[in-house]
Amino acid sequence: MNAAHGNNRLSLVFTPEHLGEALSLYARNPGAILYAGGTALLSKQSGRLPIFGAPLISLKRVEELGTIRRYENFIEFGAAVTLGEILRCRESRFLPPVFKTAVREVGTPAVRNTATIGGHLAVTERRLLLLPVLLILDAAVEIRSQTATRSGEIKRFLDEKNGFVLHPDEIITKIRIPTGRFNLWGFSALPGSVIRSQDFFMTCFVARKNRFLIEKINFAFNIDGRHILRIKQSEDRLIGKKFPLSAAEIREEMRFFTSRIDGEPAGLPLYKKDRIVNYFRLMLTQELTKSELIE
Ligand SMILES: Cc1cc2nc3c(=O)[nH]c(=O)nc-3n(C[C@H](O)[C@H](O)[C@H](O)COP(=O)(O)OP(=O)(O)OC[C@H]3O[C@@H](n4cnc5c(N)ncnc54)[C@H](O)[C@@H]3O)c2cc1C
Repeated sequence: MNAAHGNNRLSLVFTPEHLGEALSLYARNPGAILYAGGTALLSKQSGRLPIFGAPLISLKRVEELGTIRRYENFIEFGAAVTLGEILRCRESRFLPPVFKTAVREVGTPAVRNTATIGGHLAVTERRLLLLPVLLILDAAVEIRSQTATRSGEIKRFLDEKNGFVLHPDEIITKIRIPTGRFNLWGFSALPGSVIRSQDFFMTCFVARKNRFLIEKINFAFNIDGRHILRIKQSEDRLIGKKFPLSAAEIREEMRFFTSRIDGEPAGLPLYKKDRIVNYFRLMLTQELTKSELIE
């Protein structure tokens, strides 16, 4: 452990090297701030020297949070692995292409080389780019405190507004991304930053298609970095359908989908709803009619 002592402008900084040490420091210092890449934390600072007003626990040197392992059905990233490392690692060729495409869309190379996957998930002010992609891939997380471990699909840890919910002494430790489950995917984002733009729009889907039949499909929208929209009933209705759909089937699915997004998310202007509906139509009429792309 290493601590830089400070006055009331400088924070105490802990630099644990092992997870046990980080968890124990976090339990003993309620209100301490976990510092991973620091990109989100520093973007809230405007002065020449950052002022945090609480001790920092740096996760950069924690060995267990920097590992990348490939298992039979998933790749596991330690939470402090940077987005740049995800793209460059040996295991990246096994990652779902929709995930790699989304990672490449985050910020600039400099941001990606600093921002970590765990920090990306833990940002609560905005719904960032990778969250919907990890949701549709059924990715899982491991979260630890000094006394307990929780793990499971990411959706289990989100509140009703799709913000990640952590207990005060918990650290995200691992992110597991399933591999080989889907053979068709799509990703589309309007130009603009999920951070700065008030008019951000992104959508993604993954599907498993066996010849003409859709066996599984997940899709999600990120609207303005504020809402993540998933219409589970529409996903379920498409399972077992043969593509291309007939004109009557397209009409029926469009009618159902449109009825489901009426009033959701609340207060969304009509033109933004039109974008969602138009993308859903594009998915039904073009994206899902493509033949399989093997990952
Ligand atoms: C210039 C710029 C451009 C950007 N462009 C984009 C973009 O185009 N698309 C996009 O989606 N995002 C963008 N971002 C946001 C960026 O993706 C996030 O800031 C980044 O992913 C956060 O990761 P970090 O490691 O830097 O987190 P930090 O800033 O270190 O931490 C963020 C938050 O998470 C907490 N935290 C960190 N690690 C953990 C952990 N393991 N467990 C629990 N809590 C933790 C911290 O305490 C803090 O509250 C941009 C950011 C910048 C600065």
